[in-house]
Amino acid sequence: MKKTIRGFWEFFQIIGYCSGILWETSRKFFIIRMLINIVSLSVPFAVITFTRLLINLLAGIGSEDSQPEMLMRSFLIFSLLLLALNILNKGIGTLSTYYTGLHRDRMDTVTKHRIMKKASELDLSFFDSAAFYNEVNDASMNSPLVTNSAFLAMDFVRYLVQFMVAFVCLFPFSPLLPIVFVLSVIPCTVAELRQVEAIYGFQRQYMSEERKMQYASDVLLEREFAKDVRIYNLFPFISRKFLGIWEVLFSKKRKISLRYTRVLILLSALPEIVAAVFLFLLGLSVLQELHTIGDYSFLQGIMTQVLGSMYMVIYSYTQLSDGKMRIQNYRKFLGLQGNIRTDGEHKLEKPSFTVEFKNVSFRYGDNLPWILKNVSFSFHSRQKVALVGVNGSGKTTVVKLLLRFYDPVEGQIIMDGKDIREYTLDSLRSRFSTVFQDYSNYAFTVGESVSLSDVSKAGDMGKVMAALKKSGADGFTARFPQGVDTYLTRRYDESGQELSGGQWQKIAIARAFFREADIYILDEPSAALDAQSEDEVFSMFQALYAGKGAILISHRLSNVHLCDVILVLDNGSLTEMGRHEELIESDGMYAHMYRLQAEKYQDVK
Ligand code: ADP
Repeated sequence: MKKTIRGFWEFFQIIGYCSGILWETSRKFFIIRMLINIVSLSVPFAVITFTRLLINLLAGIGSEDSQPEMLMRSFLIFSLLLLALNILNKGIGTLSTYYTGLHRDRMDTVTKHRIMKKASELDLSFFDSAAFYNEVNDASMNSPLVTNSAFLAMDFVRYLVQFMVAFVCLFPFSPLLPIVFVLSVIPCTVAELRQVEAIYGFQRQYMSEERKMQYASDVLLEREFAKDVRIYNLFPFISRKFLGIWEVLFSKKRKISLRYTRVLILLSALPEIVAAVFLFLLGLSVLQELHTIGDYSFLQGIMTQVLGSMYMVIYSYTQLSDGKMRIQNYRKFLGLQGNIRTDGEHKLEKPSFTVEFKNVSFRYGDNLPWILKNVSFSFHSRQKVALVGVNGSGKTTVVKLLLRFYDPVEGQIIMDGKDIREYTLDSLRSRFSTVFQDYSNYAFTVGESVSLSDVSKAGDMGKVMAALKKSGADGFTARFPQGVDTYLTRRYDESGQELSGGQWQKIAIARAFFREADIYILDEPSAALDAQSEDEVFSMFQALYAGKGAILISHRLSNVHLCDVILVLDNGSLTEMGRHEELIESDGMYAHMYRLQAEKYQDVK
């Protein structure tokens, strides 16, 4: 009982929530559609009532006290009224389709946009978890269903009112009938609800499998994989994966559907039987002249209304119960909160400040290995700092902590005397400009791709050109027929340009240089560059950014040996720290790596 009451309460909460989003999406469309609903709800009752009067009128023709002229006039008036009502009914139907379409379009965009906004606000750590991808997938896959549910909520209210009016009309004829009707519908409703729950539960349980199918499809459809698919003839392998998962899912889903379909076929006959019995009894009473033919027609019309609206109430109720779970998940997704506290009050506004890592330890999850162990170092924001170490030693993790994509598990990062958690995220991150080793390639124009790092200056093409020059991307972009307006993809039109790995990297570096920052972070910015371009980027950087700070991560130590501080990370621990000459002198890991690379250069020479 408690569960049922809670179920109803949640259900009506969902109706409230849905009405809220419909209202927020467009007040105008909401009001118009409410008015349309009121009219389209009233018209059928008016038609039934006038039809009853018309039939009774026709049945009266020929009786002794009938006056032919008056009857004729009344007949004409009723016929015209019925015609007008039917035209109104059709017109209002078309109008409803028009406004529902517009409202639905707007609502689809609003629900999708909210998911996009939320996903962009969440901590990076969410993107490390498979469960989060399931949530994102669930929310974005279900965003059209959220719209659907919101519309169903409106339908539910409309059909419920229609049902109640029809219910009240039936009462004077037989108080028992409406109750029997409702009872006859309950088993079918319960079965439908169970089916909906079972199918949604199934979908959530196998969400990862669905994502694997989607991934298989992406591999065959996306450009990124197109070369491998052809060289290795991957279609049979990927297709087996895709169809293999589908077959398993399909057979499980079919079993669930079949189980409920059999039951539903039997149970849905019950209300029809009740209606047929009632109409039969009514027919008998007409034969016994206890009711008129008009009454029979009226009640038949009302029964059609009861049955029709009842089915729609059940339909929208069960669909909404399905939608209820989806909406609850959608709301849960929108309610997700990151672990990174964003309520710092201070603004980091000084152009020069100190940065200190104080006993920082970090791991990406409670059960995952430590990536940084008790790391301590400090530097000034105007210094050039190099992070050196083999792959996986934790260099990028240091940068991610500095930018507060994650917070240290132990220890503190202090800037200008304050824990970085005390600063607003915006003011902290605006001090830095970064190129990550897994930088992103955007299918935007050259100008847009470069100015993404500071969209407030997006229109400043002089600045874009300067950034392109600094990164060495001006050489190839100058040859594009549409210059900085050229799309860096051909997926929209043929005049777009596709870039090589090295060219993409130069665009990413230009993006970092476009932003005015205090500390530039270049994390392996040159992996895809040829030796000459790489040398140019680093020498140019040293020359142009003499007064600025930098954190440079590069495997080629010749690029970093001029830095003010070199930090050597080994397996999460800071093992060496100092200037190039000092580290060579102490003859540790850095000196060993440096000699190894220098020997290779000499070999080549
Ligand atoms: P480096 O930059 O020195 O190559 P990283 O800081 O990128 O090293 O990575 C250090 C270690 O942390 C690696 O073993 C890597 O697998 C692990 N790691 C990086 N990102 C994540 C993540 N999001 N979740 C779990 N482990 C991660």
